[in-house]
Amino acid sequence: MTDLAAAKQTLDVNAIRKDFPILSQTVNGKPLVYLDNGASAQKPVAVLDAMERYFRECHSNVHRGAHTLGDRATAAFEGARETVRNFINARSTREIVWTRGTTEAINTVANGLAPRLGPGDEILVSMMEHHANIVPWQMVAERTGATVKPIQVTPQGELDMEVFESLLTDKAKVLAITHVSNVLGTVNPIKDLIAKAKAKGLVTVIDGAQAVPHYRPDMQALDCDFYAFSGHKLFGPTGIGVLYGRESLLEEMPPFMGGGEMIERVTFEKTTWNTLPYKFEAGTPPIAEAVGLGAAIDYVEGLGRTAMETAEQALLQRANELVETVPGMSLIGTAAHKVPVLSFKIDGLHPSDIGTLLDQQGIAIRTGHHCAMPLMDFFSVPGTARASFAFYNTLDEVEQLFAALHKIQRLFA
Ligand code: PLP
Repeated sequence: MTDLAAAKQTLDVNAIRKDFPILSQTVNGKPLVYLDNGASAQKPVAVLDAMERYFRECHSNVHRGAHTLGDRATAAFEGARETVRNFINARSTREIVWTRGTTEAINTVANGLAPRLGPGDEILVSMMEHHANIVPWQMVAERTGATVKPIQVTPQGELDMEVFESLLTDKAKVLAITHVSNVLGTVNPIKDLIAKAKAKGLVTVIDGAQAVPHYRPDMQALDCDFYAFSGHKLFGPTGIGVLYGRESLLEEMPPFMGGGEMIERVTFEKTTWNTLPYKFEAGTPPIAEAVGLGAAIDYVEGLGRTAMETAEQALLQRANELVETVPGMSLIGTAAHKVPVLSFKIDGLHPSDIGTLLDQQGIAIRTGHHCAMPLMDFFSVPGTARASFAFYNTLDEVEQLFAALHKIQRLFA
């Protein structure tokens, strides 16, 4: 291995943390330990700077200006779209639609696929979905007479492949499934699921919200029809997300919202739609946020995914070892292939109390149902405590989390 290759495989986490000013603060008198990355990740200076520079030097509305600032804003905005295209290896920027986030992206697809659905048709949705990948399908099912069919998970929190294959009947028309579970950390065998679904003619819709902070998804290799993710979980700003869509399906789908850039020509007799991807981008888009997301992608890709994955898996491995040491602590989600997400319970303690007691020690985690109520029902819990790690977390922070959990368990459980 060359020195450069070796260097690229190790993350200098202490140096990286300097890029995230928010991490260097105290909370409740203790150094902040931020372990709520699954809900929203922190932003490097590169993102803050890119957005500030945009507002200081370029801002105007896009695609309209007969002036220099309009051209600069459009170039920055469309440049970010090209960054996303390259990041996910889509064939064309026509397949990259800006949305406000994963939720809006999935709603856009569910609405767009409605004309293909009718009574008797089935939409396959896994038991481990975030509500953002359940509710839009229930809404479209109600409109069209289709049925939403849950794919079970195993007690380890993996997708039950036997159930999945048994549901691939002639009635099944759509597979809507998450790449990575926000609660369990499970990485689904997405390529295999897509291939099996496509062989039966299903449209495949992948929720990538929790995958992109850890992996670089390749649209051409995955060969899915749709893939959705949010900027704020990928170290970018809130208010921006991406819907990747196969061009032929985007062409066929009706737009979700009307107004602004999405039209070609408006008359009171008939309005026609703009070309892709603008047909799905009604109103003034989140321009600075798109620029910020582009900067986030450049930053993350600059770190090297292999090094990130190695560092993150080291955090997960240490956390898994320490779970055994806390009396009454158990994990929800023990899949063989996981990102560093730890959903847990401790006998005698309510998850929300765990969250509050950790916060008093400067440690931020998330508690509750995590917008996955059907999964909570499956595991017969009202909620879980969830620590979700990012590449900027340290092994020392894992130790701090568990030292705090030991203390809480001794004093309160
Ligand atoms: N899907 C998954 C798996 C998520 O974890 C989330 C957010 O937590 C969403 C969808 C919704 O993302 P957003 O609120 O950014 O639209």
